[in-house]
Amino acid sequence: MTFPLTKVIIIVLVLFVLLMTATFGLANDAKLKLLPASNRVRFAAFLVACKAMGWAPIITSGVRTATQQAGLNAANPKNPVKVGTHDGRALDLNFIKGNIHLKKASPAAEWRASGIIALAKTLGIKWGGEIFKTYYDPVHFQL
Ligand SMILES: [Zn+2]
Repeated sequence: MTFPLTKVIIIVLVLFVLLMTATFGLANDAKLKLLPASNRVRFAAFLVACKAMGWAPIITSGVRTATQQAGLNAANPKNPVKVGTHDGRALDLNFIKGNIHLKKASPAAEWRASGIIALAKTLGIKWGGEIFKTYYDPVHFQL
């Protein structure tokens, strides 16, 4: 049995609208709104799945201007995000579940044990805990 193409299109459109309008709290939503629509849908799907696993996301940084990125690079010369995937392709995220707070200082093992990293990879989202050769940036997630 084949699934009618019109039904597939309707389901995809409904999912798209749901993900475009998903809410994660005012501060998070404001940062998500600055992402290009296609990237926003992908990150919203990721955050919805994280919430389903009990992890409350906190977007600590989203889209940055060139001036903001230059300031961060000057303050932290080791940061490899020089050309800036924070142009709409990346989010910096913390997660909270119970008394666990995943943040920049959290070890990689703790991030991996959360299930969040494996989930990100299944959605084609790269993890800053392992994509930079000389810089551990576990809060960084990029497309
Ligand atoms: Zn980042």
